[in-house]
Amino acid sequence: MNSIDAVDVGGKRVLVRVDFNVPLSEGTVCDDTRIRAALPTINYLRKNDAKVILMSHLGRPKGVGFEDEYSMAPVARVLSRILGEEVVYSPIVDNAEVRSMADQLKEGQVLLLENLRFDVREKENSSELAEELAQLADLYVNDAFGAAHRAHASVEAITRCLPSYAGLLMSLEINTLSSLLDAPERPFVAILGGSKVSDKIKIIDALLERVDVLMIGGAMCFTFLKAQGYEIGKSLYESDWEEKALQILQKAQERGVQLLLPLDVIAAPHFAEDAPTRIYSIDEMDSTMMGLDIGPASSTLYARAIGTAKTVFWNGPMGVFEFKAFESGTKAVAKAVASLQHNATTVVGGGDSVSALRSFGLEDKIAFVSTGGGASMQLLEGTPLPGVEALKARIND
Ligand code: AMP
Repeated sequence: MNSIDAVDVGGKRVLVRVDFNVPLSEGTVCDDTRIRAALPTINYLRKNDAKVILMSHLGRPKGVGFEDEYSMAPVARVLSRILGEEVVYSPIVDNAEVRSMADQLKEGQVLLLENLRFDVREKENSSELAEELAQLADLYVNDAFGAAHRAHASVEAITRCLPSYAGLLMSLEINTLSSLLDAPERPFVAILGGSKVSDKIKIIDALLERVDVLMIGGAMCFTFLKAQGYEIGKSLYESDWEEKALQILQKAQERGVQLLLPLDVIAAPHFAEDAPTRIYSIDEMDSTMMGLDIGPASSTLYARAIGTAKTVFWNGPMGVFEFKAFESGTKAVAKAVASLQHNATTVVGGGDSVSALRSFGLEDKIAFVSTGGGASMQLLEGTPLPGVEALKARIND
């Protein structure tokens, strides 16, 4: 990919696709991590006298025009505060008024467009919308790694309309995640959790080619346990994936990968925060119970294996960490990864694992926290990301 820091941006109008899909509550940004993640690119452009036009999607509006609930106005306020300078906010996306706002920008000034998904054409990867957006600028930068797995107009079609470059966050994400695949320092330990095996099957397959240890937690582990003949009671599992789970266990054995499954689980009679809990060894599970976290013996086993790692990739919680009674497995893993600090490369991929780290106050102790859950998984699976492929295609233009 061509990187934005390899081109002269002075005086140019630069249209930057950022990922400002931040959580909002009653019109207030609850977490500004994604806004801050875009600052290296924004500040680089400002310092080099570009006129900066930012665009992003936010939430899931209907695509039929302005909806107050999904407006970018609160994001503009937060960004203005962070930059210490008023960001111009355009409450519209694609008409002549926005063009004149873009034209009036001074060097170093920042304009934030309204939510791209107010226009249904964004998700349709419409070349018509891409052309309208392209009229606002001289150059295009994609810094929205979190949206790189979407073939949308502001991510993909736009690259056919303007000279296109990768932003600094985009490059950092891709280089860091690719280095896990290319030359990980060993032992390389991967930890996968979350609710469904079906969502993670491709990444499990891809990681088995590269890791030394793969540990599985979350509801996912019950499909593996059930496939091996264990009683799993009322635990969540996917019957259609038992066969595949057995193939994965076989593949791990053939490749000499140590695949760890829980030794014990914390279970409850029903899914509730205040349900009574009991620890079961996996060969003693009660058929009326539901496993909602890995148990203490498993936490110790997993933490010990993480402690030996030189490279760690973690995606997905070990249990229902949103409930205090079922957070201990995820917390043990988070602490073990965090305690590696400078002794290993630790990478955590988006979504729930990041929320978990944050709730335990451990986010700062991780070498790299990806801003893209879906995109980071797709990259590690080896599935091409439309946003990245589009940037690569522009190199040869
Ligand atoms: P995912 O979106 O697939 O990464 O899954 C994350 C969700 O899985 C979280 O909301 C967890 O609460 C949930 N989860 C993890 N372990 C379990 C479990 N044993 N039973 C039910 N849900 C779980």
